[in-house]
Amino acid sequence: MLIRGDDISVETDANKLKEISDCFNELQTQEVLAIVPFGKVIRPIEVELEVNKFNENGLLVKYLKDRIESGTEVALHGWEHINITEPELEDAIWEIIKARDYIEKLLEVKVKYFVPPFHIINKDLKYWLESLGFEILAGEGEDLDKLAKKYQSFKKETTMLWYHWWETDIEELKKWIKKYLWL
Ligand SMILES: [Zn+2]
Repeated sequence: MLIRGDDISVETDANKLKEISDCFNELQTQEVLAIVPFGKVIRPIEVELEVNKFNENGLLVKYLKDRIESGTEVALHGWEHINITEPELEDAIWEIIKARDYIEKLLEVKVKYFVPPFHIINKDLKYWLESLGFEILAGEGEDLDKLAKKYQSFKKETTMLWYHWWETDIEELKKWIKKYLWL
């Protein structure tokens, strides 16, 4: 089972992210954290790229470096948290290249995956992202926060569960894991 944490941005609370991840500690899972390098995600604040860069959250950067060292993979989740099919294709590709470069240098990691914001992607972008060496994670999988809220299992064929750190209720998640993932 792949567990994917989305919307990791400059505003992410590293302590909460750790608490969530600790819930998966004893499971045989691969974790992927999907990063938005520029701008914010959870509040409708105007994006100021120069002041909302990922590296401003030093605690988060340090935490992610530790996680990467212990095997967590990293995904690019857009450059900003926008619908990536809206800009001109060429501009989108250029932004993605710059964003990947930024994250790879900052976290000293090779970014393997791409998770399109809102799971929105088109054929051209898919072609270019794969040409750039990304493995695309879009559409497949199930929303862990929603499953935990409803105390419901995932489908048999599901190989990926994703959560949003800002949405996750840790107590609900713990109960859900015990019932549906522990055994
Ligand atoms: Zn997102």
